[in-house]
Amino acid sequence: VLQSLFRFPDLSRADLARLTELTPATISQLVGELIDEGLVEAAGRGPAKVGKPPTPLRLVSDSRHLVCVDLSDTDAFRAAVVDMAGKVVHRESVDRGDATGEHAVELVGGLIQATLAATTKPVLGIGLGTPGVVDAAGTVVEAVYLDWFDVPLRQLMARRFDLPVHVCNDANTAVLAEYSFGEETGTNLMVIKVGPGIGAGLLVDGRPHLGENFSAGEIGHIIVDEDGPPCRCGKRGCLESFIAVPELRSALAHAADPQQVRAEAGQSLGVVLAAAVSILDIHEIVLAGPSDLLDEAFREAALETIRARTLASLSRSDAVRIRHSTLGDDIVLLGAGVLVLSQELGVA
Ligand SMILES: [Zn+2]
Repeated sequence: VLQSLFRFPDLSRADLARLTELTPATISQLVGELIDEGLVEAAGRGPAKVGKPPTPLRLVSDSRHLVCVDLSDTDAFRAAVVDMAGKVVHRESVDRGDATGEHAVELVGGLIQATLAATTKPVLGIGLGTPGVVDAAGTVVEAVYLDWFDVPLRQLMARRFDLPVHVCNDANTAVLAEYSFGEETGTNLMVIKVGPGIGAGLLVDGRPHLGENFSAGEIGHIIVDEDGPPCRCGKRGCLESFIAVPELRSALAHAADPQQVRAEAGQSLGVVLAAAVSILDIHEIVLAGPSDLLDEAFREAALETIRARTLASLSRSDAVRIRHSTLGDDIVLLGAGVLVLSQELGVA
């Protein structure tokens, strides 16, 4: 019932019964409970042709607050108080400096404490999007640039704040944000998160796809050019060595033709995406990252490369779509909110 109201506002009890295939009596009881909890409200009477008009119902989106944390930025950890409709009501951030390891964990704890202090409604939970590989228990298995290895982030924060805590890889939270709060999407979607590293978040048949070792979408070290620039992993020509933010900025700073550098970066992404599109049959790709780097030249070069390297039916002009996210810098933050919503209320 909540999921229906999250997706479609102003449904009547009869609409809900139809959508959920529950009996009208069950719907009435459930709606009554949700109204008592303050999660749902009647939104005034709708028009009626005959008899008693139906009462449109809607989610009270500011009845609960979500504490959302984005650890994907290189310079600062960012957090926000967000309502259930994805509206940011308060922001906090803390400079990371070069904090890593336990020091970085301490910064995250302090940031959450400050953000919680700004909530004015019951807090549904705390969501964190972090770089690196995160397992089902919310342990950061590996986040190299934070020097985190097997850090039980969810457990540490849940113990400290006595609230539900959910932790996910930043690209995976980004795909949740795009699905719930972005432009209208289908149920198959790939978000390419370009930051200090490159990650892809995957939504396959309407479900987040995390993979056997929670490493699905770790595309940064796929080699696209064996003679390419050296990568910090020790190999040459990895995708990251072309399009990770520090590498791309540095290449642009030394380039005679910046447009050419952006186009080559887009091509390198296209090479990787051609394989992903063909394997998964996902045709909607969303770019999330600095807009000055992921510009039109970058996007077009990626799209052209996919078309040139895939089956003709995939390369039709309308078959594959690459677009920029409309959620801007908040994509990981909002995704951390959807993570809480989906785990605590079953809505997304
Ligand atoms: Zn590499």
